[in-house]
Amino acid sequence: MKNCRRASPPVRPDVRVVSTLAAVIALAVFGIAALTSLDIAAAVFYGVVVLLVASAGNRPATIAAAWGCVALMLLGFMISHNGAYSGGAIARCAVSLLAIATTSRLALRNMAATAMLHEQVEMLNLAQEALARSTAELAHVTRITMLGEMAASVAHEVTQPIAAIVTCGAAALRWLNRPAPEIDEAAQSVTQMIRDAKRADEVIQRIRSMAKKRDRLPATVDLNGIVGESIELVRLELERHRVELKSDLAAPPPTACCDRVQLQQVLINLIMNSVQAMADVTGPRKLRIATRRFDHEHVQVIVQDSGTGISEENSGHLFNAFFTTKAEGMGMGLSICRSIVEAHGGRIWAESPAAGGAVLQFILPVDEGRCHEQ
Ligand code: ADP
Repeated sequence: MKNCRRASPPVRPDVRVVSTLAAVIALAVFGIAALTSLDIAAAVFYGVVVLLVASAGNRPATIAAAWGCVALMLLGFMISHNGAYSGGAIARCAVSLLAIATTSRLALRNMAATAMLHEQVEMLNLAQEALARSTAELAHVTRITMLGEMAASVAHEVTQPIAAIVTCGAAALRWLNRPAPEIDEAAQSVTQMIRDAKRADEVIQRIRSMAKKRDRLPATVDLNGIVGESIELVRLELERHRVELKSDLAAPPPTACCDRVQLQQVLINLIMNSVQAMADVTGPRKLRIATRRFDHEHVQVIVQDSGTGISEENSGHLFNAFFTTKAEGMGMGLSICRSIVEAHGGRIWAESPAAGGAVLQFILPVDEGRCHEQ
């Protein structure tokens, strides 16, 4: 989802300031009208007075200004004609009153329309916020779903270093229990134990950061690094499905300004989709993940597989929410990928090459040094 800017209400002049200014103008107009016989010209200025007060957007003040202008207009008319009311003068007075009434009516109607518009903008803003919240919730839900799918990989990732720690610990003990303890050998085993413990801790931290509900944290991210981390998280799935992986990573590593965990989520989603798309094919299951500079302004990540490919019929719907061709599918993965990529100012799309399989790729704006290092 795009980061939409909240529409702000227009800046209106202060009602007390415009009312004071309007009162000064109205009294000046009244003075001129009472001393001369410019009936219609005075009505024009009274109209300006009403519009001036209306510009503050205050309905009661505008109505009061309109009635005040009518009163001043009539008083000025009576004083300037001093009891000698010709038919023409009365007609001009009536036209002037009509002019003030029409101006006031239009100003009030305009005010009501503007208020309604603001209400709608406000509702739109609230809807946008609600949409952003639901997308974040959904992103969290899919992350949790993916975590479930990755549980086997994670267990493997953590079990391996822990098993290595036990082996090294036993070895260290043996070195120390010798009649002449081999301190150097034991120290080496302990060093290896520390390295393995750190590896297990890293895996756990990665999983914890994925499971956490959090706001977007944009930072300078090395795409090759993200590809590597994502592959590590799904390595067992790749092995289990006998997927031949080829990474084609650009040098120097392309960087983008984005949220590391969200980008990882996009990649894992694309990789898991590829693994599933290749599950039923009889030929070789080939997965290629590439990074490259797309153009001057963008970096690109490509996930290509030798799976079932995408039919023409489905190609227009892949990124729609709840579109799925899988019996157990939720149809939210690609939709969330698109939200994440677009929220970062990028674009994601799918192709089905003639040679078979699918190519899912996305571009992100290149990091131009405005982002902080993570
Ligand atoms: P889900 O995986 O729950 O179905 P997604 O939004 O991730 O939801 O994917 C939507 C649909 O897009 C999938 O059901 C599948 O039909 C299609 N799709 C996604 N990735 C691939 C791919 N690599 N190859 C073929 N089809 C794919």
